[in-house]
Formats: sequence, C-alpha cells, structure tokens
Amino acid sequence: MRIGVPKEIKVHEYRVGLTPGSVREFVQRGHSVLVETEAGAGIGATDQDYISAGAIIVTAEDAFSADLIVKVKEPQPEEWTRLCEEQILFTYLHLASDRKQTEGLLASGVTAIAYETITDVRGGLPLLSPMSEVAGRLSIQAAAVSLEKHSGGQGLLLGGVPGVPSGRVVVLGGGVVGTHAAKIAVGLGAEVTVLDRSLARLRELDDLFGGRVRTCYSTADALEAEAAQADALIGAVLVPGASAPKLITRELLRRMKLGSVLVDVAIDQGGCAETSRATTHANPTYVEEGVVHYCVANMPGAVPKTSTAALNNATLPVGLSLAEKGLGALADPHVAAGLNVHRGTLTSQPVGESLGIGW
Ligand code: NAD
Repeated sequence: MRIGVPKEIKVHEYRVGLTPGSVREFVQRGHSVLVETEAGAGIGATDQDYISAGAIIVTAEDAFSADLIVKVKEPQPEEWTRLCEEQILFTYLHLASDRKQTEGLLASGVTAIAYETITDVRGGLPLLSPMSEVAGRLSIQAAAVSLEKHSGGQGLLLGGVPGVPSGRVVVLGGGVVGTHAAKIAVGLGAEVTVLDRSLARLRELDDLFGGRVRTCYSTADALEAEAAQADALIGAVLVPGASAPKLITRELLRRMKLGSVLVDVAIDQGGCAETSRATTHANPTYVEEGVVHYCVANMPGAVPKTSTAALNNATLPVGLSLAEKGLGALADPHVAAGLNVHRGTLTSQPVGESLGIGW
C-alpha cells in the first residue's frame, strides 16, 4: 500500500505522523511511504533521515494522493478538500466539537479513523494515553518553573535541599496524567499526595509507589485540607464524556498559599478550577488570587520529539494493520471503534449525538 505522511500545517504543531523508524517498519513490509518534504523538521528528522529509512520525499499534493494518510492533527480545510473516497485517514480527529470538519470529511467520502476513539482490551484508549503520560510528566516541570520567583511563584525549590524541607505536590485525579505527575514529583524529592474518587485506583497507586506517595479519597473536605497546604496543585481529573468537574472553587483558591501554583492539565476538557482559562506555550501562566495558573491546553506540543515517538509507539501496530489489510483491519473491534466517518456516512454515535447528525 502507499502511505502518505504530510507535514502538519496547524499553527504551532511540530509533531509528525511517522518517525523515520516507523517508516522503516512500513517499508520492510513492502509498503511505499511518501513523506512530504520537511515533514519531520519539528522533531529534528531531516528528509535525508526519511530517505535512509526508505521513504520517498514528495510534495504535499503527492503525500495526499496515497491510499493511507497518517497524520497527527485533524485535517485543516485545505487538507480535507484533498481527500477522496478511496482513501483511509488515520489521525486525531476530535469531531464531536467540530461540525465544519465533520461535514468536510463526510463530503470528501474518505474513511476516517480517529486515534482518540480506538480502544484496547481493558477498555482504555491506548492512542490517547501516551499524550496523557507526556502531559502528566510535563506538569511537574511546569509547576517547578512556575514556583520560581520570576514566574510569580513563591520562590520555592520543589525538591528542597538537605536541611530545607521539600515542597508539597497535590495531584487531583490519579489516572494516567496523575500517576505520571506523581512519578516525576517523587523523583524530584517532593512530598506527594494523590486524591481520587476511585478506591480501586488509590489501592493501585499505594502498591505502585510503595508508601512514597500519600493517597487520599477525594471529598470536598479532603481537597480543601490538601489544597491549603499545597505548593503545587495538579488538576488531572477526567469524567469520561463530560466536561471536567469544577472541583477547585475561587473560595478554595483563596485559601491556598500565596505564590503557590495550579497546573490545570484538565483544561482541554474545560479545566477543573473555576478560575482556569486556556493559555498557550507562548504565554503559559497568569496569576489569580495570588496563585500562579498554568493552563496550556496542548502541553505535549512543547516536546514534539518525545510526543511523536510516544505517539508512534501506540499508532504503529494499527497503522501496519491498516496498510496490510486496508478496511479489513476493521474486523478488529478495537480498531473499528476508531471509525468515525466512512464514505459519506457518520459512523460514530457520540459524534452524531453531539452534533445532531444522523442520530
Ligand atoms: P484518566 O481517566 O486516566 O484519569 C482521570 C482520573 O480522575 C481517574 O482516576 C478518575 O477516577 C479521577 N477522578 C474523576 N473524578 C474525580 C474527582 N471528583 N476527584 C478526584 N479524582 C477524580 O484521565 P487522564 O488521561 O489522566 O486525563 C486527565 C485529564 O488530562 C483529562 O481531562 C485529559 O483530557 C487531560 N489531558 C490534558 C492534556 C493537555 O495538554 N492539557 C494532555 C493530555 C490529557
């Protein structure tokens, strides 16, 4: 099969659909991979790196002429007009809040498989997890920098030094983001508490960290008590299919230490604090009620090299299956869960219900 890898054109998107290493896996199995010139520039992969992996360097038009298009972000208007009925598009789509793109994909006739709705045997979303892992780990870096004086923070080193106590990190939500935040915070030497509503999850975390992390059942009382003592509060809750619950009220924020930090990772679902509003990497923080807020909606975008590699680890098996079997790959129910649009028909019930199309 011919696989196309266009350069991402969405503003500030530096990731790429396939790394040179992934290209090699496709080529070794007899596929041809058409990579748009400079597609890997954002991760430091040159055209020569792709050629060495067996790719053919082409124009955007030629990359979009392939049978299977592998991307990262949802296609932009000038991209979806290039798609046609014989093609499979494999990328993040997030159609439920994007009527224009949904209509564009339906009009193109393309078969579109969304990374974010592919499932695994445990009921998880394996192509979303890598970005949560990245965001969780980054959240502590963001907190550490935001605690520095010049960032508006109290001027505190999270790990402390011998003779000076370390800072306190409170992680609200112990899922993928929360676990990876806790790992890095522990690694820095901070005191860490994780709150979650799932007792089963708290048990797993207790086992995982062997007592190095305090776990706490998440009630309003517990959150108030923990937040008041936190130097960094990490918002990492998720209620599947819903906006993030506003657990951190302005009132609660006023009880936090001056110069403490809130990293609201859940901002892409609206944020879990009343005072959160989305920021960008160019201007990531602002101060409300004396608390530095870091609310970047696309945190993995800061580290495209790591994010692309992590994403490829998760997308490669599905991509290879699509290249080998074409639409036959949809016989796997977990891949089929990714099918959102097929030859002019919307095939995702949640997207249809959200947009009022077809359901
Ligand atoms: P997850 O489902 O793995 O974990 C969410 C956790 O929140 C679960 O353990 C759940 O039990 C817990 N939870 C739900 N309600 C709670 C409550 N009231 N109190 C305490 N815990 C509660 O989800 P995840 O992959 O860790 O993602 C967390 C959030 O981070 C999501 O909103 C996701 O969209 C977001 N995210 C943001 C970025 C970014 O760049 N900003 C990147 C990746 C993920």
